[in-house]
Amino acid sequence: MARLPRMSQTINYVLVGPRSINVAALIHIGRVHFINMATEDKAKEGVPERSKENVERAVTDQTAKKQKAPKQPRPPKEPKNVKPSTIKPAKAPSTPAEPLDPDTMFKEGWLKAVHAERPAEHVFTRFPPEPNGYLHIGHSKAIAVNFGFARYHGGDCYLRFDDTNPEAEEEQFFVAIQEMVEWLGFRPYKITYSSDNFDKLYELAEKLIAYDGAYVCHCTDEEIKMQRGGPNHGPRFACAHRERPTEESLAEFRAMRDGKYKAREAFLRMKQNIEDGNPQMWDLAAYRILETPHHRTGKKWRIYPTYDFTHCLCDSFEGITHSLCTTEFLQSRVSYEWLCDAVKVYKPMQREYGRLNVTGTIMSKRKIAKLVELGVVRGWDDPRLYTLVALRRRGIPPGAILSFINELGVSTALTNIQIVRFEQSVRKYLELTVPRLMLVLDPVPVVIDNLPDDYVEEVELPFAPKDPAMGSHIVPFTKTVYIDRSDFRELDSKDFFRMAPGKSVGLLKVPYPVKATSFKKDETSGRVTEIHAEYEKPPEGESFKKPKTYIQWVGKSERHGSPIVAEARILNSLFKSEYPDAADGGYLNDVRDDSEEIYPSAMIETGLTEIRLRAPWPEEAGEQHMKKGCLTGEHSKDSRVPGFETVRFQGMRVAYFCLDKDTTADKVVLNRIVSLKEDAGKAA
Ligand SMILES: [Zn+2]
Repeated sequence: MARLPRMSQTINYVLVGPRSINVAALIHIGRVHFINMATEDKAKEGVPERSKENVERAVTDQTAKKQKAPKQPRPPKEPKNVKPSTIKPAKAPSTPAEPLDPDTMFKEGWLKAVHAERPAEHVFTRFPPEPNGYLHIGHSKAIAVNFGFARYHGGDCYLRFDDTNPEAEEEQFFVAIQEMVEWLGFRPYKITYSSDNFDKLYELAEKLIAYDGAYVCHCTDEEIKMQRGGPNHGPRFACAHRERPTEESLAEFRAMRDGKYKAREAFLRMKQNIEDGNPQMWDLAAYRILETPHHRTGKKWRIYPTYDFTHCLCDSFEGITHSLCTTEFLQSRVSYEWLCDAVKVYKPMQREYGRLNVTGTIMSKRKIAKLVELGVVRGWDDPRLYTLVALRRRGIPPGAILSFINELGVSTALTNIQIVRFEQSVRKYLELTVPRLMLVLDPVPVVIDNLPDDYVEEVELPFAPKDPAMGSHIVPFTKTVYIDRSDFRELDSKDFFRMAPGKSVGLLKVPYPVKATSFKKDETSGRVTEIHAEYEKPPEGESFKKPKTYIQWVGKSERHGSPIVAEARILNSLFKSEYPDAADGGYLNDVRDDSEEIYPSAMIETGLTEIRLRAPWPEEAGEQHMKKGCLTGEHSKDSRVPGFETVRFQGMRVAYFCLDKDTTADKVVLNRIVSLKEDAGKAA
């Protein structure tokens, strides 16, 4: 089996077995799809605890105990681009390993076992987000697991919007979520909504009452809390409503439906087992009153089913064979199965895997909203964030995300990953896929005095030196070329091999070296404004000395449209530490001042034009369906129209870049996707 090194030395796999969590400390009632897509409404559902946060906290506490904190605070990233002083440009940081079989995560381990447990003839899975926030990198695992598992087994996966809380939903999120699923290369079998089933769910609720499996309760939050043992985990007991006749509960349930009660005055609760050790069996709410109109069913309903009542039944209606969710739902499995049995419907198999957590950033919807509001970031899709829209804008290829998840594998362990590990995976992916161009971030003109004013030599540059199939393009070598300021020194020294007065240096792919002869400076700023040089073409028949180093350059030729001037945004980590929330004064105090550095007049060679025309190039996973040559930059509802981020390249000796969506007809804006090498001091 072809395998990459498992990265096990560098990734912290933290086992948080369910038994290691103090069950009594958790009141887990379930509406917890994904981390940090907080459901603010929990307390309103007759469920007294903010369960998700409790689970999160417990998991985090456990994690914190088992996981070694970084020995020292992460040093700030070195802002300057890497400038290796070796001849060959753009060496990969490590030798690329044999590519991993993209289906490894399904062929081995946990997912293999899950399939073996129920080897359904036609696999049906579902991805069930609540439409109340942007998806983040953690969700990409849920998408890859659910859609990928179905695809691998020749089955189908539903995209089901869990829209049972009209108070939390917003139209924009439905669109954004669907877009992200498609961006990752998956096609939902059907797009469904939990609200499609409101009639059916209501019927089953009446049935459950008739079977003596549910009752209408009028207790307050406080009372329910006490019935569940209270803050000190005391004895648990049932309320008087539990024993009311089924006819009475049925009548009261209909009264709830028909408007007799206001929100929180009545709940339908499932008659589970208050004595059970599992809080998911403590007579969870099945229906609650919400007076907000629903975006799809309008004012038809005043009562809405809870997550615990809805989720398993919708799975059942859709014939889901494998209901795959994260380990936060482990305890919910009991109530899931209880309800399917209680109303006598088909019972899917729920199994739980460990979620993916990335450290060094924040995922909380509320916290990201604050960063947006304060103008710390440019929006929800700011490339320094880890929402999926942000990763897309940053130019991370969807295939790189899938490959990263596949590399990590799927198990029941929570996976905590540092940003640097994610970037390493992305870098490896880009190294093997994207074309190369010459780019200078901070240009200084070099005038080659011994060339005629109209001198043009067309130099052929391969798009990928190791992959001739990617072809090549022509760039003009002219009397004036631009080099990067960091490639020139006013004073030469023995250990410096780039351009300095009296020293020969190679320009990538230009036949002969150039030698700097003099330079001009701005007296006020002290900055070099112009360098003069000679082209060291030897007389016919004579040889020349090969230079020690070649540097990248961009020629000046109006006829060729060269250079292309761009604003280059060098994106660094947004936060100083690995655990921004743990910073003194909270995550806002942990924001770096230099998380974005801007080079306003970077210069790119004209090969960019061809890459733009060919984008998406190469056709990445998730981008194969896109039409070439219709790049507009804007994301339209038509997912076949590629966005600017599909224009990706390696700026040789500098970094990987893509076009940012702020690019216009008059202005090119670049995002740095990742550096060429992991910044010094970062390696674990
Ligand atoms: Zn009660």
